[in-house]
Amino acid sequence: MTDGLYIHIPFCHQICFYCDFNKVFFKNQPVDEYIDCLGEELMMMRREGMFGGGGPLTIFIGGGTPTALEDRQLEKLFSHICSAVPTDRLIEFSTEANPDELTPDKLAILWENGVRRLSIGVQSFDAGLLERLGRTHSPNDAERVVRQARETGFENISIDLMYGLPEQTIGQWEHTLDRALSLELPHYSAYSLIVEPKTIFYNLMNKNQLPLPGEDTEAGMFNLLMERMAQSGLRQYEISNFAEEGFESVHNKLYWQNRTYAGAGAGAHGYAGGVRYSNHGPLKKYMNAVSEGRRPVFEEHRVTASEEMEEEMFLGLRMTEGVRFDRFRKRFGRELNDVYGTRIRELSEKGLLASDGESVRLTQKGIFLGNEVFQEFLG
Ligand code: SF4
Repeated sequence: MTDGLYIHIPFCHQICFYCDFNKVFFKNQPVDEYIDCLGEELMMMRREGMFGGGGPLTIFIGGGTPTALEDRQLEKLFSHICSAVPTDRLIEFSTEANPDELTPDKLAILWENGVRRLSIGVQSFDAGLLERLGRTHSPNDAERVVRQARETGFENISIDLMYGLPEQTIGQWEHTLDRALSLELPHYSAYSLIVEPKTIFYNLMNKNQLPLPGEDTEAGMFNLLMERMAQSGLRQYEISNFAEEGFESVHNKLYWQNRTYAGAGAGAHGYAGGVRYSNHGPLKKYMNAVSEGRRPVFEEHRVTASEEMEEEMFLGLRMTEGVRFDRFRKRFGRELNDVYGTRIRELSEKGLLASDGESVRLTQKGIFLGNEVFQEFLG
């Protein structure tokens, strides 16, 4: 039985220039057939006992863009979820959304089907930067959709922001933070741009046509982000995530706590029974497998005990609460210091980790150099 369930909708009405997620243009795709395959895959998971009797603690519908679906397709998706997934244990049901697609009708469909948390891809409140990212919504769309979501009844709303964007200045980032925080939401996520292979930005970068801010400017933006969130009473509970008490993302915390989750849909990943798996990414392969009555799993990897400990460290250290000694002992039957004492000591001497005897966590300096720390725990 898994703790979480992730459901992937791989369709988008636009392709953003930085995006390397598994997605395709919505137009001319077999969207209805895909949703039926998802329903069938969820039923297979149920028959295999992945949801147990009580079902997952969290469901997260992501993408791609779930809100790219038409109203009746969304209804169909929820009817499949409802048939296959028990919800007795469910404590959080989230959906990702794009501001220009989340109409009042779609908001009502989400609400009526039990979704109570929205994660909205706003990215910036600067119209020029949104265009530069290949986004199709305006800053006003973002504010309107938050207002309409509240009118529908949603309180648990998060928006995603990005910084370190081409030619972005600290002043522009501050303006985005001002507008974002004036919405008084209980949760914000903010990520620095990472230029991934096979994206439009990657091609531009290789042609020297992507003028990104320097490292110092980006660090300044991260610093400003942390300052402004703290001033607004939002706690940084993970490197890139800030929330009011009680509004942390339960689903994302499952990942960082190295707990189990089922992943359904093309290219989705899961972690269950000590095995990490990924589904076929291409729609055709995914749908063919399901149509032939097989779980559409492309790759499986049984996680060894030492890999599991590494994951526990580099995922757990992302959270400001860090990795707890007692949880490590309970999970692995070994003392954290017996396994990683030397590395923890070395990183502490560099001022990157701190330990209070109950847990080990990143220091303020370590938060800026997180990747350097995580690498130390990789075999
Ligand atoms: S960022 Fe989101 S909306 Fe943009 S292409 Fe990627 S999945 Fe689609």
